[in-house]
Amino acid sequence: MMQSNDGWIKTTCAYCGVGCGVEARPNMSGELEVRGDKSHPSNYGKLCTKGIALGDTVIHDGRLLAPIDKRTAGGEELDWHSATQIIADNFSKAIKEHGPDSVAFYVSGQLLTEDYYVANKLIKGFLGTANIDSNSRLCMASSVVGHKRAFGSDTVPVCYDDLEQAELVVLVGSNLAWCHPVLFQRLRSAKQNNPSLRVVVIDPRRTDSCDIADEHLALNSGSDVALFNGLLTHIAEHGCLDDEFVSNHTNNAKQALDQAAQESDIESLTGLSQEQLQRFYQDFVTTDKVITVYSQGVNQSTTGSDKVNSIINCHLATGKVGKEGTGPFSVTGQPNAMGGREVGALANTLASHMEFDKPEHLALVSNFWGTENLASKPGLKAVDMFDAMAEGKIKAVWIMATNPMVSLPDSEKIRKALETCEFVAVSDCIADTETTRMADIVLPAQGWSEKSGTVTNSERRISRQRRVMPSPGMAKPDWWIISQVAQKMGFGEAFDYLHEGEIFREYAALSTQGNQNGERDFSLIGLTQLDDKGYSQLLPQQWPVTELQSEVVNQRLFSDKQFYTPDRKANFVPVRHSAPKSVTSEAYPLLLNSGRTRDQWHTMSRTGLSARLGEHKSEPYVQIHPHTANEYRVQNGQLVLVSSAQGKCQVRAEVTSEVSPGQLFIPIHWNNLTAKDAKPCDLIAPYTDNASGQPEFKHTPVTLQPCLYQSAALFTSRHVMDFDKLDYWARQKIEHGYLYRIESTLSVYELAQQLKSHLTGESDRIASYESGMSGLKHRFVSVVNDKVSQEVYVQPRLSETDISSIIENFNRHVDSAQESVFPDESQLVS
Ligand code: SF4
Repeated sequence: MMQSNDGWIKTTCAYCGVGCGVEARPNMSGELEVRGDKSHPSNYGKLCTKGIALGDTVIHDGRLLAPIDKRTAGGEELDWHSATQIIADNFSKAIKEHGPDSVAFYVSGQLLTEDYYVANKLIKGFLGTANIDSNSRLCMASSVVGHKRAFGSDTVPVCYDDLEQAELVVLVGSNLAWCHPVLFQRLRSAKQNNPSLRVVVIDPRRTDSCDIADEHLALNSGSDVALFNGLLTHIAEHGCLDDEFVSNHTNNAKQALDQAAQESDIESLTGLSQEQLQRFYQDFVTTDKVITVYSQGVNQSTTGSDKVNSIINCHLATGKVGKEGTGPFSVTGQPNAMGGREVGALANTLASHMEFDKPEHLALVSNFWGTENLASKPGLKAVDMFDAMAEGKIKAVWIMATNPMVSLPDSEKIRKALETCEFVAVSDCIADTETTRMADIVLPAQGWSEKSGTVTNSERRISRQRRVMPSPGMAKPDWWIISQVAQKMGFGEAFDYLHEGEIFREYAALSTQGNQNGERDFSLIGLTQLDDKGYSQLLPQQWPVTELQSEVVNQRLFSDKQFYTPDRKANFVPVRHSAPKSVTSEAYPLLLNSGRTRDQWHTMSRTGLSARLGEHKSEPYVQIHPHTANEYRVQNGQLVLVSSAQGKCQVRAEVTSEVSPGQLFIPIHWNNLTAKDAKPCDLIAPYTDNASGQPEFKHTPVTLQPCLYQSAALFTSRHVMDFDKLDYWARQKIEHGYLYRIESTLSVYELAQQLKSHLTGESDRIASYESGMSGLKHRFVSVVNDKVSQEVYVQPRLSETDISSIIENFNRHVDSAQESVFPDESQLVS
């Protein structure tokens, strides 16, 4: 255990792919103190708002504490033996009756590598199907395809240090400032230290990343391939090809250049002026050290893989790869998306960077795992997997640490799939999510602060995640739960793990099979001899690990110009612009983009527990350009209905010039547990990139109309409330409870009466204020044990002052005089 004398334990942040080192320490009151780990080479002590608030999210509120059979009336609590036996029986039955491809695992970039490894080993090695896919499919599958096509392997060539060495950093489809904040802080500091370092942001939206940009190219959505093909042609036409590198170390350059030269109308496709294009192209070709950082804006597209290769082509053409401060750099969204790629927890990868289409890899893995039942072909990728489920082809699914009801496109189809599937098991640390509601059996997994294992960040750095708190209830590690099921299915010998360190050693050993001379990029040969103490004290290691790294190593790959293709040359991939599969129409003339906010994570099941994180963006919203708002008669702050061919979504209008006219942006986080009808996945069609299977989340044709509500209310409560019968509600975590924002077609009086009824039964004192016969203002306060426990405030419209006043009054101690429950009445009378 890496624990200092004063109790600080070194671990890793739970959220994004930066993979920041964290030090955590439980204090005397049972809370978790958190600070950045100054010795960790990813963040050197820095943390972003989400990392700083990690301690707020380790509370036991809402935790799943025991296995529950939800098929029984009232939900019978089970012991672990019975729960894992039920899963083993249902999976065995499906396989016996319908074959191995009738079962599936849907896993997550939140799992630790050891969990991923055991899940992949069970389903591919022993159940005989490759129907395992990770929610990382939604995040960076297009980058995996781009890397494999260009480099022959899924290799991220650069390290974070390169960002600080670069002279030009191009951010494409990446709001680094919000999605990878500590990396953004490193870039901002590098720019402050080196004013000649330039940053170009390529994004349809103006985001906070533009705060340090020298240039923002607000290109049209989906036009990245045209932009980078234009750059490739510019490179060739201006004599800027690196001839030695291209001739000796690459294939297909001519084909890619010919394709790029066919690209016409780059100005109209991208919406950028010739001056903007030329300035960017010149900057790229005249700068030696260029890094192109890209993320979901590139990957989450029906042409995502081609976008990735259009970027890599330009780096190959100029030899800007494998050298300090250069390279294409895919930054991953999740804390262990990279770990999942390494293990092979994607349906189209076998294991440990070995592939299904190589018979020698199948033989190596089969032999290593001691199985004769190894899957021999790729399985179903995420969207296809849920399609097969909806068609009744998958009879049993096990979902681990992810919430597909909220995060996959076309939520209605996902609901149908889970309803159709005969047996749905869900492992999660949270009891109530939209997906656990669909489960037959739920299994309590450990949460971030309780888990022990490893994660890999965007720069291929493996860090230990360490247990810093005991698990509540019956929560167990995911690897343990999977192993118990494996044992009950008759595979005990291969799954008799007692400790996560054993799994890691086996995983490291697998990476060396047929890889003694670095035939594959991914090798942990230097970690195969780790004993328990060595695993416990493991410092961050950047792969490939040829020998145990006892100090910080920063390796960039391909500096020897050797790639992992059969002839060791990199491949140019000829690509051409093609329009996204969804196109606007008269009915749906606007384009919806979706993405993250700064302080929330995915479906908010953890960050939604923190009051301070709830303050940044407290309600689901849509960004609309002032011209578009004007055209659709939408006022700033008004609720609007956004509709697509798939469904509808209700969000508050944020009128801003950060988006272009005709374009909208909605954050991905809110769902049916945190707001009424505010889930962007209800709008998004399940179109995917043909090569990667990654869905298009950034380009949905929609329309817009204002919601015409008559009344608005605020409701504070210590408990979660059920307001689903109302037209609109959104929940925000505040200190000691929750704040609900409500709007309705009811009159102010009617809404007030309805909300007042939610106070009854809980209070021993209810005080009321009503603004006379006009009925324009109603306020009710419920006091329990001399504290404000609930409060309702109803008006035609509400202001920020009303909101802060209600939050301030919540949980306030009041004396016995009834009038004192309205201390700030003067502020509320408008
Ligand atoms: Fe955690 Fe990412 Fe923030 Fe680092 S940047 S503290 S890894 S969320």
